[in-house]
Amino acid sequence: MFPLMSLSNEEIRRYSRHLILPEVGMDGQEKLKASRVLLIGSGGLGSPLAYYLAAAGVGTLGMVDFDVVDFSNLQRQILHFTKDVGRPKIVSAQEKVEQINPEVTFIPYETHFTAENAIEIAQDYDLLIDGTDNFPTRYLVNDVCVLLKKPNVYGSIFRFEGRVSVFDAQKGPCYRCHFPEPPPPGMVPSCAEGGVLGVLPGVIGLLQGVEALKLLLGKGKPLIGKMILYDALEARFREVKVPKDPDCPICGKNPTITKLIDYQQFCGIENPDSDELAVGAPLRKMTKDEITAEDLKEQIAKNPMTMVLDVRNPSEYAICRIEGSKFIPLTELAERYDELVKEKPIVVYCHHGVRSLRAAQLLRKNGFADVKSLFGGINAWSEKVDPNIPRY
Ligand SMILES: [Zn+2]
Repeated sequence: MFPLMSLSNEEIRRYSRHLILPEVGMDGQEKLKASRVLLIGSGGLGSPLAYYLAAAGVGTLGMVDFDVVDFSNLQRQILHFTKDVGRPKIVSAQEKVEQINPEVTFIPYETHFTAENAIEIAQDYDLLIDGTDNFPTRYLVNDVCVLLKKPNVYGSIFRFEGRVSVFDAQKGPCYRCHFPEPPPPGMVPSCAEGGVLGVLPGVIGLLQGVEALKLLLGKGKPLIGKMILYDALEARFREVKVPKDPDCPICGKNPTITKLIDYQQFCGIENPDSDELAVGAPLRKMTKDEITAEDLKEQIAKNPMTMVLDVRNPSEYAICRIEGSKFIPLTELAERYDELVKEKPIVVYCHHGVRSLRAAQLLRKNGFADVKSLFGGINAWSEKVDPNIPRY
Protein backbone atom coordinates (compact mmCIF):
# COMPACT_ATOMS: atom_id res chain seq x y z
CA MET A 1 0.00 0.00 0.00
CA PHE A 2 1.21 3.47 -0.80
CA PRO A 3 1.56 5.88 2.13
CA LEU A 4 -0.92 8.67 2.19
CA MET A 5 0.79 11.74 0.76
CA SER A 6 -0.19 15.21 1.74
CA LEU A 7 1.30 16.83 -1.39
CA SER A 8 -0.81 17.21 -4.51
CA ASN A 9 0.60 16.32 -7.94
CA GLU A 10 0.97 20.03 -8.63
CA GLU A 11 2.91 20.50 -5.41
CA ILE A 12 5.14 17.56 -6.30
CA ARG A 13 5.96 19.33 -9.58
CA ARG A 14 6.44 22.64 -7.82
CA TYR A 15 8.82 21.28 -5.21
CA SER A 16 10.53 18.64 -7.34
CA ARG A 17 14.02 20.10 -6.86
CA HIS A 18 13.51 19.79 -3.13
CA LEU A 19 12.00 16.32 -3.34
CA ILE A 20 15.06 14.87 -5.06
CA LEU A 21 17.35 16.19 -2.32
CA PRO A 22 17.77 13.37 0.21
CA GLU A 23 17.94 15.98 2.99
CA VAL A 24 14.46 17.23 2.09
CA GLY A 25 12.49 14.59 0.18
CA MET A 26 8.76 14.02 0.62
CA ASP A 27 9.07 13.93 4.41
CA GLY A 28 10.91 17.23 4.54
CA GLN A 29 8.57 18.95 2.12
CA GLU A 30 5.59 17.79 4.15
CA LYS A 31 7.30 19.15 7.25
CA LEU A 32 7.73 22.50 5.52
CA LYS A 33 4.08 22.45 4.48
CA ALA A 34 3.07 21.90 8.10
CA SER A 35 5.43 24.64 9.34
CA ARG A 36 4.47 28.04 10.62
CA VAL A 37 6.98 30.89 10.47
CA LEU A 38 6.45 34.40 11.82
CA LEU A 39 8.31 37.24 10.11
CA ILE A 40 8.66 40.41 12.16
CA GLY A 41 8.83 43.18 9.58
CA SER A 42 8.38 43.26 5.81
CA GLY A 43 11.33 45.54 5.07
CA GLY A 44 14.81 44.83 3.80
CA LEU A 45 15.20 41.49 5.58
CA GLY A 46 11.54 40.48 5.49
CA SER A 47 11.31 40.97 1.72
CA PRO A 48 13.72 38.28 0.49
CA LEU A 49 12.64 36.04 3.37
CA ALA A 50 8.98 36.22 2.39
CA TYR A 51 9.72 35.47 -1.27
CA TYR A 52 12.00 32.51 -0.67
CA LEU A 53 10.19 30.94 2.28
CA ALA A 54 6.92 31.13 0.34
CA ALA A 55 8.53 29.70 -2.78
CA ALA A 56 10.14 26.93 -0.71
CA GLY A 57 6.73 25.82 0.53
CA VAL A 58 6.64 26.93 4.16
CA GLY A 59 2.93 26.26 4.73
CA THR A 60 2.02 29.22 6.92
CA LEU A 61 3.77 32.57 6.87
CA GLY A 62 2.71 35.18 9.39
CA MET A 63 3.98 38.71 9.01
CA VAL A 64 3.81 41.71 11.34
CA ASP A 65 4.14 45.22 9.94
CA PHE A 66 2.32 48.48 10.54
CA ASP A 67 4.31 50.61 8.11
CA VAL A 68 3.31 52.18 4.82
CA VAL A 69 5.48 51.83 1.70
CA ASP A 70 7.71 54.86 1.15
CA PHE A 71 9.79 55.74 -1.92
CA SER A 72 12.95 55.36 0.18
CA ASN A 73 12.06 51.68 0.83
CA LEU A 74 12.15 50.63 -2.82
CA GLN A 75 15.96 50.47 -3.07
CA ARG A 76 16.02 47.28 -0.98
CA GLN A 77 12.54 46.24 0.21
CA ILE A 78 11.77 44.22 -2.89
CA LEU A 79 8.37 42.98 -1.72
CA HIS A 80 7.12 46.47 -2.51
CA PHE A 81 6.88 47.94 -5.99
CA THR A 82 6.76 51.56 -7.10
CA LYS A 83 2.99 51.29 -7.50
CA ASP A 84 2.74 50.31 -3.82
CA VAL A 85 4.09 53.59 -2.46
CA GLY A 86 1.58 54.87 0.09
CA ARG A 87 -0.07 51.47 0.59
CA PRO A 88 0.24 49.40 3.79
CA LYS A 89 3.28 47.16 3.52
CA ILE A 90 1.40 44.17 4.84
CA VAL A 91 -1.15 44.39 2.01
CA SER A 92 1.60 44.74 -0.58
CA ALA A 93 3.46 41.79 0.98
CA GLN A 94 0.40 39.56 0.96
CA GLU A 95 -0.18 40.19 -2.76
CA LYS A 96 3.36 39.22 -3.67
CA VAL A 97 3.44 36.11 -1.48
CA GLU A 98 0.13 34.87 -2.87
CA GLN A 99 1.37 35.35 -6.41
CA ILE A 100 4.63 33.54 -5.83
CA ASN A 101 2.95 30.58 -4.14
CA PRO A 102 -0.83 30.34 -3.71
CA GLU A 103 -0.34 27.14 -1.68
CA VAL A 104 1.01 29.22 1.20
CA THR A 105 -1.31 30.56 3.88
CA PHE A 106 -0.29 34.14 4.55
CA ILE A 107 -1.46 35.63 7.85
CA PRO A 108 -1.11 39.43 7.97
CA TYR A 109 -0.84 41.33 11.25
CA GLU A 110 -1.22 45.02 10.47
CA THR A 111 -0.05 46.18 13.87
CA HIS A 112 3.08 47.03 15.81
CA PHE A 113 4.62 44.01 17.53
CA THR A 114 4.26 45.01 21.19
CA ALA A 115 4.53 43.50 24.65
CA GLU A 116 0.70 43.51 24.69
CA ASN A 117 0.13 41.42 21.54
CA ALA A 118 3.43 39.58 20.99
CA ILE A 119 2.71 36.38 22.95
CA GLU A 120 -0.71 35.95 21.42
CA ILE A 121 0.60 36.47 17.89
CA ALA A 122 3.73 34.36 18.29
CA GLN A 123 2.46 31.38 20.27
CA ASP A 124 1.20 29.36 17.30
CA TYR A 125 4.41 29.63 15.26
CA ASP A 126 7.36 27.24 15.12
CA LEU A 127 9.94 30.00 14.92
CA LEU A 128 10.30 33.75 14.63
CA ILE A 129 12.51 35.64 12.23
CA ASP A 130 13.69 39.04 13.37
CA GLY A 131 13.59 41.53 10.51
CA THR A 132 13.30 44.65 12.64
CA ASP A 133 15.67 47.60 12.79
CA ASN A 134 15.10 48.97 16.27
CA PHE A 135 16.29 47.85 19.67
CA PRO A 136 13.00 47.74 21.60
CA THR A 137 11.47 45.30 19.08
CA ARG A 138 14.67 43.25 18.93
CA TYR A 139 14.62 42.71 22.72
CA LEU A 140 10.91 42.02 22.56
CA VAL A 141 11.35 39.36 19.83
CA ASN A 142 14.12 37.79 21.91
CA ASP A 143 12.13 37.69 25.13
CA VAL A 144 9.02 36.31 23.41
CA CYS A 145 11.14 33.52 21.92
CA VAL A 146 12.83 32.68 25.23
CA LEU A 147 9.53 32.67 27.15
CA LEU A 148 7.76 30.59 24.48
CA LYS A 149 10.83 28.34 23.96
CA LYS A 150 11.04 29.08 20.25
CA PRO A 151 14.09 29.79 18.07
CA ASN A 152 14.74 33.38 17.01
CA VAL A 153 16.49 33.67 13.64
CA TYR A 154 18.31 36.96 14.04
CA GLY A 155 19.65 39.28 11.37
CA SER A 156 20.77 42.90 11.34
CA ILE A 157 22.20 45.22 8.72
CA PHE A 158 23.97 48.55 8.69
CA ARG A 159 25.71 50.31 5.80
CA PHE A 160 27.88 47.51 4.33
CA GLU A 161 27.78 45.06 7.23
CA GLY A 162 25.40 42.40 8.40
CA ARG A 163 25.04 39.84 11.17
CA VAL A 164 23.18 36.57 11.40
CA SER A 165 22.65 34.15 14.26
CA VAL A 166 20.13 31.72 15.68
CA PHE A 167 19.18 32.42 19.27
CA ASP A 168 17.58 29.41 20.91
CA ALA A 169 17.78 29.58 24.67
CA GLN A 170 16.91 25.86 24.90
CA LYS A 171 20.16 24.99 23.16
CA GLY A 172 22.41 28.04 23.42
CA PRO A 173 22.54 31.76 24.10
CA CYS A 174 19.80 34.33 23.55
CA TYR A 175 20.14 37.86 22.19
CA ARG A 176 20.45 39.25 25.72
CA CYS A 177 23.42 36.93 26.43
CA HIS A 178 25.24 38.68 23.58
CA PHE A 179 23.81 42.19 23.96
CA PRO A 180 22.85 42.53 27.64
CA GLU A 181 22.36 46.31 27.46
CA PRO A 182 20.77 48.36 24.71
CA PRO A 183 22.86 51.29 23.49
CA PRO A 184 21.72 54.71 24.74
CA PRO A 185 18.93 55.98 22.49
CA GLY A 186 20.26 57.79 19.45
CA MET A 187 23.81 56.49 19.89
CA VAL A 188 23.54 53.78 17.25
CA PRO A 189 22.28 55.24 14.00
CA SER A 190 19.55 53.36 12.14
CA CYS A 191 19.71 52.59 8.41
CA ALA A 192 17.66 55.75 7.90
CA GLU A 193 20.47 57.70 9.55
CA GLY A 194 23.53 55.79 8.38
CA GLY A 195 22.46 54.36 5.05
CA VAL A 196 22.56 50.76 3.80
CA LEU A 197 23.69 49.13 0.57
CA GLY A 198 20.52 47.98 -1.20
CA VAL A 199 21.56 44.37 -1.80
CA LEU A 200 22.91 43.82 1.73
CA PRO A 201 19.55 42.90 3.31
CA GLY A 202 19.15 40.39 0.45
CA VAL A 203 22.35 38.62 1.53
CA ILE A 204 21.57 38.72 5.24
CA GLY A 205 17.84 37.98 4.91
CA LEU A 206 18.57 34.90 2.84
CA LEU A 207 21.17 33.63 5.31
CA GLN A 208 18.36 33.89 7.88
CA GLY A 209 16.12 32.04 5.41
CA VAL A 210 18.63 29.19 5.09
CA GLU A 211 18.83 28.87 8.88
CA ALA A 212 15.04 28.90 9.17
CA LEU A 213 14.65 26.10 6.60
CA LYS A 214 17.37 24.03 8.31
CA LEU A 215 15.60 24.40 11.66
CA LEU A 216 12.24 23.43 10.16
CA LEU A 217 13.73 20.43 8.39
CA GLY A 218 15.93 19.46 11.34
CA LYS A 219 18.92 19.20 8.99
CA GLY A 220 22.47 20.52 9.14
CA LYS A 221 24.10 22.50 11.92
CA PRO A 222 22.09 25.52 13.03
CA LEU A 223 23.93 28.77 13.71
CA ILE A 224 23.42 28.45 17.47
CA GLY A 225 26.14 29.85 19.72
CA LYS A 226 27.77 31.48 16.71
CA MET A 227 27.29 34.64 14.74
CA ILE A 228 28.25 35.30 11.13
CA LEU A 229 29.55 38.79 10.42
CA TYR A 230 29.53 39.83 6.77
CA ASP A 231 31.56 42.77 5.49
CA ALA A 232 30.42 43.55 1.96
CA LEU A 233 33.18 46.06 1.19
CA GLU A 234 35.91 43.58 2.12
CA ALA A 235 33.99 40.60 0.70
CA ARG A 236 34.60 38.79 3.96
CA PHE A 237 32.61 36.47 6.19
CA ARG A 238 33.76 35.96 9.76
CA GLU A 239 32.32 33.75 12.46
CA VAL A 240 32.39 34.63 16.14
CA LYS A 241 31.38 32.49 19.09
CA VAL A 242 28.42 33.69 21.14
CA PRO A 243 28.57 32.06 24.58
CA LYS A 244 25.57 31.59 26.81
CA ASP A 245 25.66 33.91 29.80
CA PRO A 246 24.83 31.94 32.97
CA ASP A 247 23.73 35.25 34.54
CA CYS A 248 21.53 36.26 31.61
CA PRO A 249 18.46 37.99 33.09
CA ILE A 250 16.05 35.93 30.96
CA CYS A 251 17.74 32.65 29.98
CA GLY A 252 20.29 32.32 32.81
CA LYS A 253 20.11 30.22 35.96
CA ASN A 254 18.20 32.75 38.03
CA PRO A 255 16.16 34.76 35.56
CA THR A 256 14.81 38.09 36.75
CA ILE A 257 12.71 38.62 33.61
CA THR A 258 9.85 36.14 33.68
CA LYS A 259 7.34 38.02 31.59
CA LEU A 260 7.45 40.71 28.91
CA ILE A 261 8.53 44.16 30.08
CA ASP A 262 8.25 47.75 28.84
CA TYR A 263 10.76 47.70 25.97
CA GLN A 264 10.63 51.41 25.19
CA GLN A 265 11.53 52.16 28.78
CA PHE A 266 14.19 49.42 28.85
CA CYS A 267 15.84 51.02 25.82
CA GLY A 268 15.64 54.44 27.42
CA ILE A 269 12.93 55.76 25.16
CA GLU A 270 10.37 57.72 27.13
CA ASN A 271 6.76 58.37 26.27
CA PRO A 272 6.77 56.81 22.84
CA ASP A 273 4.03 58.16 20.63
CA SER A 274 2.47 55.09 19.07
CA ASP A 275 2.08 56.87 15.73
CA GLU A 276 5.81 57.48 15.64
CA LEU A 277 6.77 53.82 15.88
CA ALA A 278 7.28 53.40 12.13
CA VAL A 279 10.65 52.00 11.12
CA GLY A 280 13.25 54.76 11.15
CA ALA A 281 10.99 57.28 12.82
CA PRO A 282 12.11 58.95 16.03
CA LEU A 283 10.80 56.79 18.86
CA ARG A 284 10.49 59.58 21.37
CA LYS A 285 8.96 62.88 22.35
CA MET A 286 10.76 66.14 21.84
CA THR A 287 13.05 67.28 24.68
CA LYS A 288 13.71 70.84 25.88
CA ASP A 289 17.02 70.82 23.97
CA GLU A 290 15.20 70.51 20.67
CA ILE A 291 13.17 72.75 18.42
CA THR A 292 10.47 71.93 15.88
CA ALA A 293 10.89 72.78 12.20
CA GLU A 294 8.05 75.31 12.41
CA ASP A 295 9.64 77.06 15.41
CA LEU A 296 13.02 77.13 13.71
CA LYS A 297 11.50 78.87 10.71
CA GLU A 298 10.01 81.48 13.04
CA GLN A 299 13.27 81.89 14.95
CA ILE A 300 15.27 82.47 11.74
CA ALA A 301 12.77 85.14 10.68
CA LYS A 302 12.86 86.87 14.10
CA ASN A 303 16.56 86.50 14.77
CA PRO A 304 18.69 86.44 11.61
CA MET A 305 21.76 85.96 13.84
CA THR A 306 20.69 82.34 14.38
CA MET A 307 23.27 79.98 12.98
CA VAL A 308 21.85 76.83 11.39
CA LEU A 309 24.50 74.13 11.54
CA ASP A 310 24.40 71.01 9.35
CA VAL A 311 26.37 68.07 10.84
CA ARG A 312 25.53 65.43 8.23
CA ASN A 313 27.99 63.68 5.91
CA PRO A 314 29.19 65.35 2.69
CA SER A 315 27.21 62.77 0.65
CA GLU A 316 24.03 63.89 2.39
CA TYR A 317 24.89 67.57 2.07
CA ALA A 318 25.14 66.98 -1.69
CA ILE A 319 21.52 65.80 -1.77
CA CYS A 320 19.93 68.79 -0.07
CA ARG A 321 20.45 71.39 2.64
CA ILE A 322 18.65 74.13 4.52
CA GLU A 323 19.46 77.40 2.77
CA GLY A 324 22.01 79.55 4.56
CA SER A 325 23.17 76.76 6.85
CA LYS A 326 26.78 76.17 7.82
CA PHE A 327 28.16 72.70 7.08
CA ILE A 328 30.52 70.89 9.47
CA PRO A 329 30.27 67.07 9.47
CA LEU A 330 29.88 65.64 12.98
CA THR A 331 33.21 63.81 12.64
CA GLU A 332 35.01 67.17 12.20
CA LEU A 333 33.04 69.20 14.71
CA ALA A 334 35.48 68.83 17.62
CA GLU A 335 38.30 70.34 15.56
CA ARG A 336 36.29 73.21 14.12
CA TYR A 337 34.70 75.01 17.12
CA ASP A 338 36.60 78.17 16.17
CA GLU A 339 34.35 78.54 13.10
CA LEU A 340 31.35 79.03 15.40
CA VAL A 341 30.45 82.05 17.51
CA LYS A 342 29.71 81.32 21.18
CA GLU A 343 27.37 84.28 21.61
CA LYS A 344 25.10 83.40 18.69
CA PRO A 345 22.17 81.02 18.98
CA ILE A 346 22.92 77.77 17.13
CA VAL A 347 20.42 75.22 15.81
CA VAL A 348 22.01 71.95 14.71
CA TYR A 349 20.38 69.59 12.25
CA CYS A 350 21.05 66.23 10.61
CA HIS A 351 18.84 63.80 8.69
CA HIS A 352 16.38 62.76 11.42
CA GLY A 353 17.63 64.60 14.48
CA VAL A 354 19.73 61.91 16.16
CA ARG A 355 23.27 62.98 15.30
CA SER A 356 22.39 66.64 15.78
CA LEU A 357 21.32 65.87 19.34
CA ARG A 358 24.78 64.47 19.98
CA ALA A 359 26.40 67.48 18.28
CA ALA A 360 24.35 69.90 20.40
CA GLN A 361 25.45 68.07 23.56
CA LEU A 362 29.08 68.36 22.44
CA LEU A 363 28.72 72.08 21.72
CA ARG A 364 27.09 72.79 25.09
CA LYS A 365 29.93 70.97 26.86
CA ASN A 366 32.38 73.22 25.03
CA GLY A 367 30.93 76.50 26.10
CA PHE A 368 28.23 77.21 23.51
CA ALA A 369 25.31 78.35 25.63
CA ASP A 370 22.38 78.63 23.24
CA VAL A 371 22.29 75.39 21.24
CA LYS A 372 19.24 73.47 20.08
CA SER A 373 18.77 70.45 17.85
CA LEU A 374 16.21 70.36 15.05
CA PHE A 375 13.66 67.70 16.07
CA GLY A 376 13.15 65.28 13.17
CA GLY A 377 16.04 66.80 11.23
CA ILE A 378 15.94 68.03 7.66
CA ASN A 379 13.34 65.36 7.03
CA ALA A 380 10.91 67.23 9.30
CA TRP A 381 11.97 70.55 7.74
CA SER A 382 11.01 69.17 4.32
CA GLU A 383 7.69 67.83 5.64
CA LYS A 384 6.66 70.85 7.68
CA VAL A 385 8.41 73.90 6.19
CA ASP A 386 9.92 73.47 2.74
CA PRO A 387 8.47 70.69 0.58
CA ASN A 388 10.93 71.57 -2.21
CA ILE A 389 13.65 69.88 -0.18
CA PRO A 390 13.89 66.25 -1.31
CA ARG A 391 13.38 63.61 1.38
CA TYR A 392 15.83 60.73 1.32
ZN1 LIG B 1 20.30 34.83 27.44
